[in-house]
Amino acid sequence: MPKQPRLIIATRNAHKTEEIRHILGYRFEVLDVTSFPELPEIEETGTTFLENARLKALGISRRIDGWVLADDSGLEVDALDGAPGVWSSSYGGEEGNHSRNNERLMREMAGKAPRTARFRCTLVLAKDGGERAVFTGTVEGAIAKSPSGNGGFGYDPLFIPTGHSATMADLGAAVKSTLSHRAKAIRDFVAEVEKGCFIDS
Ligand code: IMP
Repeated sequence: MPKQPRLIIATRNAHKTEEIRHILGYRFEVLDVTSFPELPEIEETGTTFLENARLKALGISRRIDGWVLADDSGLEVDALDGAPGVWSSSYGGEEGNHSRNNERLMREMAGKAPRTARFRCTLVLAKDGGERAVFTGTVEGAIAKSPSGNGGFGYDPLFIPTGHSATMADLGAAVKSTLSHRAKAIRDFVAEVEKGCFIDS
């Protein structure tokens, strides 16, 4: 069997890596930056998903040999003027604390309408410190009144995708990998790879 090309995901979020690995299947050997302890933490100082994804993709690919894919993503809630947006991971006051983020979201949404929202994902592919491509995906939905489900991560227990009556966390990994913002962006990336772009070039 030919050797799989290696793809390094510019994240320390094991959930993101696992979701990307699940969708990319046999096509790549998917690693993330936890396999390279010498790499520095890249500060996300951008004000858009694209800026932050670029910072991570270019920052890592300047220091590592091979293809790098960065994911910047978050939740936009219409009744909160698009918050938490690029600040999704620290919305509750502590970086990466998903239960505090969900508690704040429930507090902010008490009595508010509409409850419509979307997840957005921007992926930047880079090599040797240069940007090679950008892919994006969104999934529309609504914010539940209370959390439900054990699947996924982040705001999944509070996000009901349009067309479903259960949260992303209730729907679980198999369904999430067909409809999520990340799944859509990854599928566009795969379509380009299958046309012969990027990885073998
Ligand atoms: P990032 O690591 O700066 O891109 O922050 C992403 C944050 O957005 C996560 O910490 C979650 O709060 C939220 N988020 C992104 N994707 C998802 C998802 O698939 N489900 C639930 N929350 C997500």
